[in-house]
Amino acid sequence: MSKLEKNVGSIQKTIDQACQSVGRNTKDVAMLAVTKSVSSEVAAPLLELGVNKFAENRVDSLLEKQLYFQENKIEWHLIGTLQRRKVKKVINSIDYFHALDSLKLAEEIQKHATQTIKCFVQVNVSNEESKHGLIIEDTIKFIKSIEKYDKIKIVGLMTMAPKDATEVEIKYYFDELALKCNEIRELELDHAPCTELSMGMSNDYELAIKSGSTYVRIGTAFFKDYI
Ligand SMILES: *Cc1c(COP(=O)(O)O)cnc(C)c1O
Repeated sequence: MSKLEKNVGSIQKTIDQACQSVGRNTKDVAMLAVTKSVSSEVAAPLLELGVNKFAENRVDSLLEKQLYFQENKIEWHLIGTLQRRKVKKVINSIDYFHALDSLKLAEEIQKHATQTIKCFVQVNVSNEESKHGLIIEDTIKFIKSIEKYDKIKIVGLMTMAPKDATEVEIKYYFDELALKCNEIRELELDHAPCTELSMGMSNDYELAIKSGSTYVRIGTAFFKDYI
């Protein structure tokens, strides 16, 4: 068994256990492989292991990997900041965008999208200076202002917990985001069903799942033996 196969098994097991502990169905949690720190060659065996949702945080590396994997059926997620000048280049090539956080960016997506783009609104729940994302109090107002852009569908909210946060703090941030997501879902906005939560990385995906995450973004835990 390769190290990669072992890691996939262990992540899957952690996801299963986290789901079980809170009475959730494993099928409701999508496991994204964040391939940003490895080459396409290193990521390739994931497909035979049944992992076919890939995430990249940079436009150029995403496009590069797409070229390499053009014969494969992969769901592509752009999880990092998207500069406005790069929208045109990538927006119609991805299945999900996880970092919508400004009206200007929404406007640019609207301009270049040839189909509906599934977006997560990125929220900076911990109010970290260095982080992108809206402050949580602005989320609803922002989402309402997106309504005029008919190419954008807000499928959910996304956040990143600060690196140095304690478990208690991380759980608090994840729960806050989940509550906000519910609040938006209850508004029943056509353009913002907000049924999904993109939260949890290698160090905190177990906590994220317990707080209701439906998309975990995992890099290091898959590839630690190859980075
Ligand atoms: C790199 C990255 C991840 C994955 O982080 P790991 O700690 O390696 O699992 C998840 N989300 C975003 C936005 C990232 O940039």
